[in-house]
Amino acid sequence: MAAFCKGRCRLKRLLFQQTQTRNLTGKFDYDLVVIGGGSGGLACSKEAAQLGKKVAVLDYVDPSPKGTKWGLGGTCVNVGCIPKKLMHQSALLGTAVKDARKYGWNIPAPVSHDWPTMAEAVQNHVRSLNWGHRVQLQDKKVKYLNLKGSLVDEHTIRGVSKTGKETILTAGNIILATGMRPKYPSNVPGAVEHGITSDDIFWLKESPGKTLVVGASYVALECAGFLTGIGLDTTIMVRSIALRGFDQQMAGLVTDYMDTYGTKFTWKCIPKKVEKLASGALQVTWEDLGSGREDRGTFDTVMWAIGRTAETKTLNLEKIGVALKKESGKVIVGDNESSSVPNIFAIGDIAEGRPELTPVAIKAGKLLARRLFSPSTELMNYDNVPTTVFTPLEYGCVGLPEEEAEKRYGKDAIEVYHAFFKPLEFSVAERDSSQCYIKAVCLREGDQPIVGLHFTGPNAGEVTQGFALGFQCGATYRHLLDTVGIHPTCAEEVIKLNITKRSGLDATVTGC
Ligand SMILES: Cc1cc2nc3c(=O)[nH]c(=O)nc-3n(C[C@H](O)[C@H](O)[C@H](O)COP(=O)(O)OP(=O)(O)OC[C@H]3O[C@@H](n4cnc5c(N)ncnc54)[C@H](O)[C@@H]3O)c2cc1C
Repeated sequence: MAAFCKGRCRLKRLLFQQTQTRNLTGKFDYDLVVIGGGSGGLACSKEAAQLGKKVAVLDYVDPSPKGTKWGLGGTCVNVGCIPKKLMHQSALLGTAVKDARKYGWNIPAPVSHDWPTMAEAVQNHVRSLNWGHRVQLQDKKVKYLNLKGSLVDEHTIRGVSKTGKETILTAGNIILATGMRPKYPSNVPGAVEHGITSDDIFWLKESPGKTLVVGASYVALECAGFLTGIGLDTTIMVRSIALRGFDQQMAGLVTDYMDTYGTKFTWKCIPKKVEKLASGALQVTWEDLGSGREDRGTFDTVMWAIGRTAETKTLNLEKIGVALKKESGKVIVGDNESSSVPNIFAIGDIAEGRPELTPVAIKAGKLLARRLFSPSTELMNYDNVPTTVFTPLEYGCVGLPEEEAEKRYGKDAIEVYHAFFKPLEFSVAERDSSQCYIKAVCLREGDQPIVGLHFTGPNAGEVTQGFALGFQCGATYRHLLDTVGIHPTCAEEVIKLNITKRSGLDATVTGC
């Protein structure tokens, strides 16, 4: 054992020495230059600076086609997780106000929502985060440059300012963390002139009014969800299926709930054109893929949520030998985040095959900095990354969708425990709980390792985060049975799961 440890230590030291030879402090302006000051880039640059390295981070926001722009912090802070969750909260409060009457609150009707008040509060919070990030960079001695970066060669970066002024920097190591931006359709006349995307919705000063959201990704569903929740007439246009890549039974529950919540769906349709009428309204023409018929509707706002493109086109990567995946335009990376050029790395959304989530970008960035500038050899573990979709009925999951588990292990090798439950808080409020559901996808062998956990219900993110720890520890169905519940919660229904899908028995939880 001692000999094994000694060998491991020697190997660690050797690896550290190898990475140190790449630092070459003194030869370059910086030990590390990070291009992109979002979730991954900021985490990585601060970590490297704390390890005593000379670090610069370039961050630059190209305004959206509508002209929306924002400050330091990337997608999550400005046009993603943060404003989205706050607007989701605004919508949840609308439901809470309705529930409140049943709980004894006298709330004079009608209750109405004011977009400018919400938007201003959310935007002020985002600006405070922009400021906080600048202060943190300064405190940690990371040089922040508001420049658009591209590569000249494997150690040289060109930064261009808003006014076109050029700055040249050299660095021992370069990390690409430029994230993604929303796509517009290329074949729909009027799409760009008259449409917005998630890069704009959170920064609107006035209510978007009656809105058509095109797409069925989590971004589409979440935005349509909070728009409905604050009382706007909202329609989602779906070409094929909702929440591709997620468990499709759960996706069905999420959209069924939204349907009863008031979001309209036009399934199996694609938009053909968007025109502005004399009244100022937008007329959208679409095709029903089933019947081939054309149909029309008018809206105040059309929001495209049809996917995102990796921000790699202007980095000059291919010229200097950084290999990109053709289909996605993302950087092809190894387990250690390195690209095909040894001193250039990619983290976060632009790295091929990585989950496009903020905590993933942050953790990958921190671990990479430690591997580059300390004796650490710890790699990012991309398995069993938990996530939550913040739709009106939240959906949290960790591990495999049921259909993926079936594919990987075979239908006969898995056991699915499930339950339809009624959150206690829904009972007094007389809210429908038909879509509140839990399933644990387990292997049938031994103690039945859990390979997928899915939850629709209140606070799904909080519930799923806790169980995600269990996943990292190799949780089994046996562990669920051995766990004592916290009563009365929704999360305790997870550890009470006892009906298998295979049995065909009614999975509705009764009693408390
Ligand atoms: C609407 C929406 C909601 C989301 N909700 C969640 C959520 O709830 N939870 C979650 O975990 N994730 C969520 N995400 C995803 C999350 O925002 C991203 O996974 C995360 O921000 C990726 O971080 P990153 O560091 O890769 O890139 P980003 O955070 O996008 O940062 C990239 C930065 O680089 C800048 N940049 C680009 N090119 C250059 C250049 N050439 N030079 C200089 N700077 C450049 C960009 O302007 C940006 O500031 C959401 C995304 C969206 C769109």
